[in-house]
Amino acid sequence: MATIEQSSADAASAPREIPVENPATGEVIRTIPATTPAEVATLVARARAAQPAWEALGFEGRGQILRRAQKWVTDNSARIVETIVSETGKTWEDAQLAEVAYAANAFGFWAKRAPKYLADEKIRSSNVFVAGRKLAVRYRPVGVVGVIGPWNYPLTNSFGDCIPAMAAGNAVVLKPSEITPLTSLLMAECMRECGLPEGVFAVAPGYGDTGSALVDAVDMVMFTGSTATGKKVMARAAETLTPVSLELGGKDPMVVLADADVERAANAAVYWSMQNGGQTCISIERAYVVEPIYDDFVRRVTEKVQALRQGQPGGPGSVDVGAVTHPPQLDIVRRHVDEATAAGARVVAGGHARETGGRYFEPTVLVDVDQDMSCITEETFGPTLPIVKVADEAEAVAKANDSRYGLGAYVWTKDTAHGEAVARELESGAVCVNDAQVNYLALELPMGGWKESGLGVRHGAPGIRKYTRQQALLVTRIAPKKDVHMFPYKARTSRMLGGLVKLLYGRGKRA
Ligand code: NDP
Repeated sequence: MATIEQSSADAASAPREIPVENPATGEVIRTIPATTPAEVATLVARARAAQPAWEALGFEGRGQILRRAQKWVTDNSARIVETIVSETGKTWEDAQLAEVAYAANAFGFWAKRAPKYLADEKIRSSNVFVAGRKLAVRYRPVGVVGVIGPWNYPLTNSFGDCIPAMAAGNAVVLKPSEITPLTSLLMAECMRECGLPEGVFAVAPGYGDTGSALVDAVDMVMFTGSTATGKKVMARAAETLTPVSLELGGKDPMVVLADADVERAANAAVYWSMQNGGQTCISIERAYVVEPIYDDFVRRVTEKVQALRQGQPGGPGSVDVGAVTHPPQLDIVRRHVDEATAAGARVVAGGHARETGGRYFEPTVLVDVDQDMSCITEETFGPTLPIVKVADEAEAVAKANDSRYGLGAYVWTKDTAHGEAVARELESGAVCVNDAQVNYLALELPMGGWKESGLGVRHGAPGIRKYTRQQALLVTRIAPKKDVHMFPYKARTSRMLGGLVKLLYGRGKRA
């Protein structure tokens, strides 16, 4: 865990400027100032001062601004796509479908759903000792939420979590990845133009020390990023007992059973492993295919991957797979492919990095892969698909579950009832049958990781309630001057109450 001395040393050594690079070309497109830890404290203080009035606006008043922002996003979609593409090197479609469309939907969704998910809940208790009382649960915003985001989806995964936090009545300070801060700055412009009161939302671009300072200052942390950093954030937050919600890494398995529609499974395997250059937490990162259809599946996947077009993204339809956004990621992808081939795996498509005029790794398929190779045990986060041949469903399920991660998992079979039964055996926060990733679009469905993939969920009722404090209310309206259990204790009353406990709870059988 970082000590105070360490973090001041980090703060002193961290650069105070952020050169933002276009990974598809290698050019620096803009340099912006990094927020110092002292500036973070100021931004949080401003947010804290602005929050009560924002909360007091109520769901209707806040919803109006969120709906304006929804319109702003659709009106300015070209500008947003251009910004995302320029700082991530992802394709036009990956920015349009998985980011702009997500944000446009999310603004309307949370504006509409927040009042329902956060309405006071009337509670009925079966306990006779509280009979006659009014019981309720109400939700109050925590105050200031610190959102810390990764570089792979600067709109969906960084700014996206700010929407429910604000809809719940919180002020938000967002620390985007230093690799991709421009989209968040554009969203700050969006919120200003849509009439969000000053101070309710602020962006703090910066490095790790900016993130640590934010963890120290806020009332709740929503973190999306790697498992390693997530553990550091949780340890840091423990010092101030600040609640955290963690959306971390994944190693999503795909299980393809003998009766699967092999063509659909192959198309899905290629798309959901290569979309966004494989830099998606819920990418298909490993495929387990049963022996009878393995050769057919591998042949189809190989042909499709070999046909993918990769390069600098232009407008719609220009390329299928873009660049590697984060420089160190290229080394991880290369190492996983090299270690696999050194241990006996074969590359049947791609396999090489290209670093002239941008940073790319070819869409790659690995076969003859074993369960203990790093391409199976570690998160790769790149355009690779390792395929493992398994004897049967039982082996596929056992190997799919043999991972420290548990974010998403996918099953392919024509027997959907059986597919659902297999899905229930998989140790993962979400499982799709004959599909992948699209559960993320259903904002009504909670999305979060098991095991080392996270803590808490985004989306659904729990995805907004986490930005609140629950308050239990009990109101006693009609009551005697003195309840029967009150002082002074009397033997007769105590025996009578003991008898009542036996009567109420002692009638069950022991065996
Ligand atoms: P990192 O963990 O490296 O960084 C995430 C964010 O944390 C960045 O903004 C980073 O800043 C910041 N940070 C770094 N150190 C600290 C610190 N000590 N305290 C507070 N904040 C800190 O993740 P990546 O950006 O590399 O993102 C990729 C990862 O995110 C993958 O593992 C992926 O699976 C995961 N992810 C998970 C999702 C989910 O929903 N479960 C969704 C999307 C991605 P800086 O960039 O300046 O280092």
